[in-house]
Amino acid sequence: MPPVGAPELPPETNHGRPPVQCEECASALQNQGDHSESFLLLDHLTVPIIGCHDHVETFVSICEVTTTDSPELVDFLPAGGIRCPSCRLAAYSMEHPVIPVQAGAVGILACSEHQVELINRFQAGLNTQEQLTSSLDTSP
Ligand SMILES: [Zn+2]
Ligand SMILES: [Zn+2]
Repeated sequence: MPPVGAPELPPETNHGRPPVQCEECASALQNQGDHSESFLLLDHLTVPIIGCHDHVETFVSICEVTTTDSPELVDFLPAGGIRCPSCRLAAYSMEHPVIPVQAGAVGILACSEHQVELINRFQAGLNTQEQLTSSLDTSP
């Protein structure tokens, strides 16, 4: 039986910043610049992301659901740096989308094109995970 009401809506990132329950994520997002961000290596992309360690890892593992590549998470800027010049500039901008991840939130310091790419992957990963969970959870 197909799941009813599976959301096909685009991610909602334009609501302003929702309150972040996870204090570590919240303080990481507030202190960006001071705080060492993590770098997500996914396909050809290198994208700095901000959040607490746990929620950044959760974000990455959800993105991983939709890719055949295994994304890697590193704590330092990898050799070669950020390849997309727009992403490199975006790291210095004050405006970043913040994606709710369970009780936390992670900020994505990428150019708009690559933000959308990551957000889409994350959403697709969430949907896939939900379907997996709901198909396992069929007991009455
Ligand atoms: Zn967190
Ligand atoms: Zn980019």
